Amino acid sequence: MKKQTKKIPLRLFNTMGRRKQIFKSLKPGLVKMYSCGPTVYDYAHLGHFRAYVFVDVLRRALKFNGFRIKQVMNITDVGHLTSDADTGEDKVEKAAREKKMSAWEIAKFYTKDFFDAMHKLNVQRADKICKATDHIKDMIKFIKKIEKNGYTYKTSDGIYFDTSKLSDYGKLAGLDKKKIEGLKPGARIRFSAEKRNVTDFALWKFSPKRMKRQMEWRSPWGVGFPGWHIECSVMSTKYLGETFDIHTGGVDHIPIHHPNEIAQAKAATGKEPVRFWLHNEFLLVDGGKMSKSKQNFYNMADIEAKGTDPFALRYLFLTAHYRSKINFTWESLEAAERALDTLRERVLEWKKSKKKMKNNKKKIETYETKFLKAINDDLNTPTALSVAWKVVREKQISDKNKLKLLLKFDEVLGLRLKDVKPAKKKELSDEVKELIKKREEFRKIGKYQEADEIRKRLSEEFGVLIEDTIKGTRWKFKKIKKKK
Ligand code: AMP
Ligand code: ZN
Repeated sequence: MKKQTKKIPLRLFNTMGRRKQIFKSLKPGLVKMYSCGPTVYDYAHLGHFRAYVFVDVLRRALKFNGFRIKQVMNITDVGHLTSDADTGEDKVEKAAREKKMSAWEIAKFYTKDFFDAMHKLNVQRADKICKATDHIKDMIKFIKKIEKNGYTYKTSDGIYFDTSKLSDYGKLAGLDKKKIEGLKPGARIRFSAEKRNVTDFALWKFSPKRMKRQMEWRSPWGVGFPGWHIECSVMSTKYLGETFDIHTGGVDHIPIHHPNEIAQAKAATGKEPVRFWLHNEFLLVDGGKMSKSKQNFYNMADIEAKGTDPFALRYLFLTAHYRSKINFTWESLEAAERALDTLRERVLEWKKSKKKMKNNKKKIETYETKFLKAINDDLNTPTALSVAWKVVREKQISDKNKLKLLLKFDEVLGLRLKDVKPAKKKELSDEVKELIKKREEFRKIGKYQEADEIRKRLSEEFGVLIEDTIKGTRWKFKKIKKKK
C-alpha cells in the first residue's frame, strides 16, 4: 500500500486550543514525543493499559504516515505524593513501608510488572525509558535555573513555584487569571497556608523531620526529594530538546501536572515546550472511577486468571475513541474476545485459501483510503475497525488481498494478526467431562448449590472455567498467575 500522507493529512486533537490540527513535525520526518509514564508503587491496572495502548496506536499511526519517532517515557519512582496538594506521603515510600520492602525494590518490582503487561498488550517500547531517580542532579540544575529567573520561593517544607509570575499559567487547563482567583483553597487542592497562590506547587520538598525517608538527596536548599512535576520537564528537555512535537498523558493531567510542566519549562527556557498535547480519556470500571488508591482496579493477573487473552483487551480499547470514556465490564471484554477470535479465524482461512479471483483494484484502494482516513482523523480506531470488518465481509476481493489489507491495517491496530496460529484445543479429561455433566444435571433439577460447588472445584482443581450461555454450557482453561 502506498503511503497517502499527501492526500489525507494526519489531524490530531490538541488539548492546547481544544481543536483538531493538521500534524506537522518540527523537524521534517521525525517526531519527538514524550509520554508521562507510570508511578511504580503497585500493579499496573486496566486504566494504565488503556493509556499506553492509546500511546502505542499513536506511535504506530505516526509510523504509518511515514514518520520516524523518538519517544521518551519516564518512570516515576520518587516524589509522587498521595495528594496533589504537595502534602501526604510519597506513594513509593508508603508502599515500601506497607509491603516491608525497600523503596528501590518496590519501584523495581512494579516497573517490571508494568513492562510485562505492556509486552502482553503488544505495546511498543519507547526509545528511551528514564527513571526519575536517575536524574536528580539534572532536576537540581533545572530548579536552579527557575530560581535564578525569579519564579521560586521557600516555605518551611520546600521550594515552591510562584505561578502568579507567569501571565498565562494554566492555559492548557482553560484557566485564566480570573478563574485562578476564583479557585477557592480546597476547591482544587488542599491549600497549604504558606503557599502564595492556590496553584503554586513544590519543585523540591524537604525530608520530613519526624520520619527518615529512604529516597533523599542533598541539594542547595536542603536534604529532600524532587516535586513530582519537575522530572517530566527535565527528562523531556534533556532527551528531546526545549520544544518538541507531542506530549501524551491521561486527562487527569490536564488540570495540574501538565500546566505545571509548561510553567517549569517556560520559567527555565522561556519557550513553550510542547506543540501538540494529546490526552486519553479514562477507563471506568462498572461505571465508576478506578484508581490504585481505591483498590477497585483490575490488573493483568485478573485478566489472565479468567483465561482471557490480553489482546482482547487491546481490541476492546480500539472499539472506543481515545477521547471517550470506556466503561469496562467483563461482558464487554468477552464480546471483544469473541470478535477478535472471529477475525483471527478469517485470517487463518485466508492464509490457507487457494481461491482465485480477479483483482478488484479500485475496491482495494477504497478500503485503504477509508482506513487511512479514519486513522488520520484523530486516530478514529472504532471507524478503522469497522473498515476492517467491511473488508472481512467483502465479496469482491480475493482472500489473498483481504489478508494483505488486514495485515496492513494491523500495523496500526497492533493485534498481531500475522502471527495467528490455529489454536491447539486442549482436551478435557474424562473426570472433568463427568463433573461438567453432573453439574448440568444438578442445574436441571434446581440443585444450584451443588452445581456451584462443582463449578468451584472445576476452577480450583482443574483450572477449567465454566460459563453458562443461552447456547448451553461453555468451558475454557484458565491461565493462572498468582498475585504477589
Ligand atoms: P499514574 O501511574 O497514576 O501516574 O498513571 C500513569 C498514566 O496512566 C497517566 O497518564 C494517567 O493519566 C493514566 N491513567 C491512570 N488511570 C487511568 C484510567 N483509569 N484510565 C485511563 N488512563 C489512566
Ligand atoms: Zn509527566
